[in-house]
Amino acid sequence: MKPLSVLTRPNIWDLAPYSSARNEYSGHEATVFLDANENPYNAPLNRYPDPLQRELKKKISQIKGVAEECIFLGNGSDEAIDLPYRCFTRPGIDNVVAIEPTYGMYKVCADINDVEYRPVLLDENYQMSAERLLAKTDKNTKIIWICSPNNPTGNSMKREEIIKVIENFEAFVIVDEAYGDFSQEKTLRSELSKYPNLIVLNTMSKAWGCAAIRLGMAFASKEIISIYNKVKYPYNVNLLTQKQAMEALKEPFQVDKWVKILLQERQRMIQSFMLLPICEKVYPTDANFFLAKMTDAQSIYNYLVERGVIVRNRTRVTLCNNCLRITIGTKGENNELLSALRQY
Ligand SMILES: *Cc1c(COP(=O)(O)O)cnc(C)c1O
Repeated sequence: MKPLSVLTRPNIWDLAPYSSARNEYSGHEATVFLDANENPYNAPLNRYPDPLQRELKKKISQIKGVAEECIFLGNGSDEAIDLPYRCFTRPGIDNVVAIEPTYGMYKVCADINDVEYRPVLLDENYQMSAERLLAKTDKNTKIIWICSPNNPTGNSMKREEIIKVIENFEAFVIVDEAYGDFSQEKTLRSELSKYPNLIVLNTMSKAWGCAAIRLGMAFASKEIISIYNKVKYPYNVNLLTQKQAMEALKEPFQVDKWVKILLQERQRMIQSFMLLPICEKVYPTDANFFLAKMTDAQSIYNYLVERGVIVRNRTRVTLCNNCLRITIGTKGENNELLSALRQY
């Protein structure tokens, strides 16, 4: 890996971060806070929240097995996807490489930041090739994006291929494991100490059932996390989110139960889809959704909308012609989808 001082945008490397009232004092036990121009009434909402979310990180550290100083928390994965662009990529000069098709936010953030986005097609089994990803890089490539399990295809990328990319790339490899809780594959979080250029993303939005609170995570070396902390908004995760996340994280067994039910339902849904005359193929999945190739995705999608059932039409996505992406819902919701499709 190239030194961080070379990979980081010069203006960011030299940045003196905003020092908030809450940052400046430390050490002494304080009881009177007259430093932040807050209203003394209306507790606890009157106070600025902890900019580094220390209590929450302690809890996440236990659950995820990552040291607190190697954790960044953001306003959804959205923030954890945008930040590396703002920290590392020079607009109009640098580029990023990504598997294709994949999650749309990597490209949206590239476009917003005026950074060239270089998609590399997956093969017919939706698998990536390390060699082909690396072949697309040049001296200005700062990030390689890998999503595993991948959205919208659902499958996990082969671990050896991901490792090959990490080991043979001089800049950052970001592996988005938003759906990792649904997969049997070993998480790459456990490899962070081995690979200083690896960044792993997780979210509370999927298996943890907390999309509304907006909490995303990045796990990386403490040096990378320090750069993120310098660039992020000072109070990027609000108090209500921090509190609600603490509550959710107290119930990891609830998540295990949900995952178990959803995986059973996924199996049932896939079997039912394969019996539908309008379904040509269901792709292997490691996530809480599956991709199905239909006879006519657009008209089936329109028909379902009429019936009040919304699925994701991916027919215009590369390599996903005539594909619908189906999220696994409750048994009742899944049955509504099936009965509508049987009447198509
Ligand atoms: C849903 C999803 C996320 C979650 O994004 P949040 O901003 O955390 O809600 C992240 N990555 C992928 C690939 C997703 O599909």
